[in-house]
Amino acid sequence: MARVLAVANQKGGVAKTTSVSSLGAALTELGQRVLLVDLDPQACLTFSLGLDPDALELSVHDVLLGRLSAGLVVLRTADGSDLLPATIELAGCEAVLLSRTGREHVLRLALAEIVDDYDFVLVDCPPSLGVLTINGLTAADEVVIPLQCETLSHRGVGQLLDTVHDVRRLTNPRLRVRGVLPTLFDGRTAHSRAVLADVAARYQIRVLEPPVARSVRFAEAPGIGRSILTTAARSKGAHAYREHARAIAGLGPTALSGAAAPALLA
Ligand code: ADP
Ligand code: MG
Repeated sequence: MARVLAVANQKGGVAKTTSVSSLGAALTELGQRVLLVDLDPQACLTFSLGLDPDALELSVHDVLLGRLSAGLVVLRTADGSDLLPATIELAGCEAVLLSRTGREHVLRLALAEIVDDYDFVLVDCPPSLGVLTINGLTAADEVVIPLQCETLSHRGVGQLLDTVHDVRRLTNPRLRVRGVLPTLFDGRTAHSRAVLADVAARYQIRVLEPPVARSVRFAEAPGIGRSILTTAARSKGAHAYREHARAIAGLGPTALSGAAAPALLA
């Protein structure tokens, strides 16, 4: 049965989608069977993996509304991982789900039919704490929180952790916080490190090493329809995501820093 990781942060532009596509490609390189789930109505993950969301007839929206089983909608990407794609229709899904009993569980139940086909499922959450993100967290074993290290980044982390606690209490007691993934990292100043240390101490949360440095190589990848693991295979960014993938797969040293002992996160 697959391990399900939700990649969530209600702030936009913190590299959630980039992290999902890059970790997915890196896990695939390691020989893992990977399914990516695009839960964002903006469908950036779908687009960045070379598919035109406007041309798709079937998408995760049909699955969440119970019209189709997930297996019928999954596509293979050029990176080698499978994808449950999104289209803009997903925006309307949120409102429909709100009136449904058990709305938090629809993704978990839909994935249950296909999780045995994969080693890892990575869920790209939208930039909100609405019902779609709650579905991602309810379906997940672990949540990874990409964080752009800038002043006040910690505020969003606090709100997200409150939501994680609610999800644990109400819909998914097994959800663990894997940690904060530093993205768009600027190693030239001490500021980014200070922000990370503050977040780690304030919330007793792990910081996953190494940080993913800010690099122009990331901007090019989505237009090509492949992740940076292909478009800039030897870049520092690709190597950083490979290290994280190895740690996730239990193959590498789980490089951690920060104040938290893992027991605090259980
Ligand atoms: P989110 O899904 O959180 O909204 P994205 O993954 O879409 O964030 O990333 C936002 C933008 O930042 C995209 O244009 C992406 O190409 C770019 N980006 C992501 N990671 C990096 C990085 N390490 N360096 C430079 N640009 C990055
Ligand atoms: Mg995104």
